[in-house]
Amino acid sequence: MDLDYYNNQCWECKQFFDTKNKRQFTCEECHKKLIVEIWVEGYQATGQQGTANYFGWYKVDSLLEACEKLAKVNPEFDRLFDRHEMTYWGCKIFDNEEEARKSYG
Ligand SMILES: [Zn+2]
Repeated sequence: MDLDYYNNQCWECKQFFDTKNKRQFTCEECHKKLIVEIWVEGYQATGQQGTANYFGWYKVDSLLEACEKLAKVNPEFDRLFDRHEMTYWGCKIFDNEEEARKSYG
């Protein structure tokens, strides 16, 4: 997984922050959400199962915005993405790994 996006300066207010905390995606100064990750939960179907999938990250304000950016460059995601239900191929989309792995790992 590419975690190379981490930058130790907020691109909104230019404040520097602690680079040791890799899960800090919200600026403490201006409360701007700096990174939105896209995670799709796993599934369980007859004889088949899968774990959560990471679809990348975007410098946007919401999960919907991130998904719409991904849909523009990924035709497969665009085809299976439901904007109203916030699902991909019927699987729920989350902005964090913890929740995405809760049901099916
Ligand atoms: Zn900031």
